[in-house]
Amino acid sequence: MKTLNDFDFKNKKALIRVDFNVPLNENFEVTDATRIVSAKPTIIKILEDGGSCILMSHLGRPKGVQEAFSLKHIINKVEDVLGVEVKFAENCVGSQAEDAAANLNPGEILLLENLRFHDEEKQGDKNFAEQLSRLGDVYVNDAFGTAHRAHASTTIIAQFFPETKCFGNLLAQEIESINKVMETGEKPVLAVLGGAKVSSKITIIENILDKVDHLIIGGGMTFTFIKAQGGSIGDSICEDDKMELALDIIKQAQEKNVQIHLPVDVIAANAFSNDADTQIIDVTQIPDGWQGLDAGPKSKEQFHDVVMQCKTILWNGPLGVFELEKFANGTIALGDSIAEATKNGAFSLVGGGDSVAAVKQFGFENKVSYVSTGGGAMLESLEGKILPGIAAILE
Ligand code: AMP
Repeated sequence: MKTLNDFDFKNKKALIRVDFNVPLNENFEVTDATRIVSAKPTIIKILEDGGSCILMSHLGRPKGVQEAFSLKHIINKVEDVLGVEVKFAENCVGSQAEDAAANLNPGEILLLENLRFHDEEKQGDKNFAEQLSRLGDVYVNDAFGTAHRAHASTTIIAQFFPETKCFGNLLAQEIESINKVMETGEKPVLAVLGGAKVSSKITIIENILDKVDHLIIGGGMTFTFIKAQGGSIGDSICEDDKMELALDIIKQAQEKNVQIHLPVDVIAANAFSNDADTQIIDVTQIPDGWQGLDAGPKSKEQFHDVVMQCKTILWNGPLGVFELEKFANGTIALGDSIAEATKNGAFSLVGGGDSVAAVKQFGFENKVSYVSTGGGAMLESLEGKILPGIAAILE
């Protein structure tokens, strides 16, 4: 696995695929610079080596060239974060980009206009990738958030750098964190899978049963498992067509010696609302008119005990409807437990969609070992897929 340490960037132009797909407000100001901050170590390392950086990224989902999606809106923020002046090319390919790249001196940064102003980017067009490749001497992929897409700048371009391509620091860290959970993690290994639906997590569950010792299943997924085992779930969210699958997962887990932990009690509500009446109730005895929206106190205790036993922890998906304050406690309690286990030496990885939002919202970001920067890319990694952007560097 080639990383930045395998190259001396002195007098070299590094063409770096970053993920600067940051949120902007109505005045086109960056409202969350996390992704820019995440790319900083790679960029600074190359500049300190005596190289220059050509940054390429997409922003949003433009249809052709649309001013609202121009990366020029983020130049100031990138300069603030990096502490270095940033030059800008108004097209990511063609003579303007080529001239700007050719004139770039060591220590300088050039940001290219939105890759997705060209349809060829998403099409993975080889000719477009070749045009991009002319701009740099070394190709660095540091965009985990798009590593699951075989786009021109994330995957196809790598073939034009057979010996001079590598992972940036961020992408290397993401790969290492996933490997720590899926391959090399100290036992016991625990996965906590929450969220709304079994159907969106099924491939992950099946893949992960071979990797873990304990599996906590929480959130809305719970009720498909409980109903399948004969429990009464009232009006809780359930996928009836996945009940057989749920039973099969329980059977597979037994065969593979994986302990599955489901909530034993829940906070049930008479409406999907912060104003609803609630009661704490056995997960198998929820009356009609009531729905389970969070883990109950016994479940929280039980999950805490499991978390504290484990040395490697993966967390994907909330344990309840954390967006509503009334039903956020289960997710917060789990975060507290994982934070405590991490303090005691466990490795913890949080990743994939809503769990990252929850971790940030409740302030656990710096209390876990690693928070992944990729939603879809993380989920596909947990499904056991080799992401095209990663494969292209390894080839
Ligand atoms: P996912 O994107 O699959 O991780 O699902 C996250 C969503 O699951 C969040 O928006 C939660 O509100 C939702 N969720 C968690 N627990 C429940 C539950 N018991 N009932 C309904 N939705 C839930």
